[in-house]
Amino acid sequence: MKFEYAPAPESRAIVDIKPSYGLFVNGEFVDGHGKSFKTISPSTEEVLAEIAEADEADVDAAVKAARRAYARVWSKMSGAERGKYLFRIARIIQERSREFAVLESIDNGKPIKESRDVDVPLVAAHFFYYAGWADKLSYAGLGSDPQPLGVAGQVIPWNFPLLMLAWKIAPALACGNTVVLKPAETTPLTALLFAEVCQQADLPPGVVNIVTGAGETGRALVSHPDVDKVAFTGSTEVGRAIAKAVAGTEKKVTLELGGKAANIVFDDAPVDQAVEGIVNGIFFNQGHVCCAGSRLLVQESVAEEVLDRLKRRMKTLRVGDPLDKNTDIGAINSGEQLAKIRALSEIAESEGAERWSPPCELPSNGFWFAPTIFTGVSQAHRIAREEVFGPVLSVLTFRTPKEAVEKANNTPFGLSAGVWTDKGSRILWMASQLRAGVVWSNTFNRFDPASPFGGYKESGYGREGGRHGLEGYVR
Ligand code: NAP
Ligand code: MG
Repeated sequence: MKFEYAPAPESRAIVDIKPSYGLFVNGEFVDGHGKSFKTISPSTEEVLAEIAEADEADVDAAVKAARRAYARVWSKMSGAERGKYLFRIARIIQERSREFAVLESIDNGKPIKESRDVDVPLVAAHFFYYAGWADKLSYAGLGSDPQPLGVAGQVIPWNFPLLMLAWKIAPALACGNTVVLKPAETTPLTALLFAEVCQQADLPPGVVNIVTGAGETGRALVSHPDVDKVAFTGSTEVGRAIAKAVAGTEKKVTLELGGKAANIVFDDAPVDQAVEGIVNGIFFNQGHVCCAGSRLLVQESVAEEVLDRLKRRMKTLRVGDPLDKNTDIGAINSGEQLAKIRALSEIAESEGAERWSPPCELPSNGFWFAPTIFTGVSQAHRIAREEVFGPVLSVLTFRTPKEAVEKANNTPFGLSAGVWTDKGSRILWMASQLRAGVVWSNTFNRFDPASPFGGYKESGYGREGGRHGLEGYVR
C-alpha cells in the first residue's frame, strides 16, 4: 500500500523580498548606472525582484571603496579585531538561518531541507572557522608574518550561492583583504541579504562590496587593474578566459572549475549504503554540484544488484516544490541550464546509451528534470565525458581495481571521487591512484570548513577551505 505525503511547505513569511535592489558599495545600497535585470524563482518562474546590473563605473566605485577600506582600516586592524567581526557575522547568520534558507530555496530552486540542513549551517561554520584563524595566521605555516594581498575580486556561480560567497569572503577577510564579490545573475538575493548582515555586524564600510550583474560585470571585475587577487568558481570555459585576462599581471588567481567525478562501487561494498551514496552523489542539489558523482563505476559482479536497488530507491525520490520539507529534488536553476541538460541527455540516447527515470509528475510551471540514469554508457560517449550539471547519472562497469582507476582517471577533470569498499587497504590504494582533489570513502559530498577542496587538471587550481584556503589570500 502506498501512502501519499501531505504537503509540508515551509512558510515564506520570514523573508521580505523587496521589489528592487541596488548594489552594495562602501557599506550602503546604491543605484547602479546600468540597466536592471530580474531574478526569478525557478520553481514557478515568478519574478522576485529587479536587480541592478553593475557597469564598469559601478565596479570601479566598488573597487575604490574596497581599496580605501583596505588601506585605512582593514589591513591595519589586528587579527583579533578582524576575528571579532567574522564571529559576529557567523552568529548573525545562525540567528537568521531560516530566513537565509527560505530565500536561497526561493531564488535558487534547491530543496529547503538542503538549504536549511546543509548550505546555511556550512556557511556559518565557514565564518566561525576562518574567524578562528584571523589572529593565528603566523602559525599557519605561511611564514612568520603573512601579509594580505589587498583587494580581492570574487566571482561565484549559482549552484551554492551563499555557500560559495562564504568560501570566498571568510578567508579573504580573515587574512586582512577587502572584497568585491559578484554573485551569479540568477541567484543574487542571498548575497544581498548578506550585505544587510555586514551592516548589522557594523563591518567597516568598503570591506565587503557586492556588485550584481551578469558575465560582463564579472569580466569588468576580474580585469579591473586595481584588483590584487581574483577568485573564481564556475565553468572551465570562463575560468580559461579569466586565466588569459590576468596572465602577465601581478594578480594572484584561484580557479575552482568543473568536474566529472567517478563514484566507484566494489563488490564488497555495503550495498544499501553505497546506493544512498550514489543518490546523494548525483541527486543532491539537482546534480548542480561541481564535485557530483556523475559517473557511477560499478564492479561487474554486483552491477545488476546495485542498479536494481538504485532504481528502487530512485522511485522514492520526491521532485517538486523546493519549499516543501519532504522534497528531495527541487527545480533546475534556469531555463538555460535545463536546455543544456536536455541536450546532453538527447545526445546520450542518440549515441546509444539507455535512459531510465522513475515515473514522476513534474510541475507544469518552472524548470524541472526527472532524476535520470544512463546505462550502456561507454567512455567515448559525451554523457560520460562532459559535465551535465544536472540530475543525470552515467553508469559504467569495471572488473578489476586497476580498470576502475583507469576509467576513473580517464577525464580532463580531477575534482573529486568516491570509493565504496569494505577494505581499508583498498581505500588507501585507490586514494593514492585517483587523480582528484578530494577522495571520499564510503561517503560522498561531505564538506567541512577544516578540509581543503579543489581540483587537478581542468578542474582548476588553488584550494579553498582549511589552512590551505588561507594560502590564496596572503603573500
Ligand atoms: P559560468 O558562466 O562560468 O558562471 C560563473 C560566474 O562567472 C557567474 O557569476 C557568471 O556570471 C560569471 N561570468 C560569466 N562570464 C564571465 C566572464 N567572462 N568573466 C568573469 N565572470 C564571468 O557558469 P554558468 O554559465 O553559470 O554554468 C555553466 C556551466 O559551468 C555549468 O553547466 C557547469 O558545468 C559549470 N559550473 C560549474 C560550477 C562549479 O561549481 N564548478 C558552478 C556553476 C557552473 P553570470 O551571472 O552571467 O552567469
Ligand atoms: Mg533566481
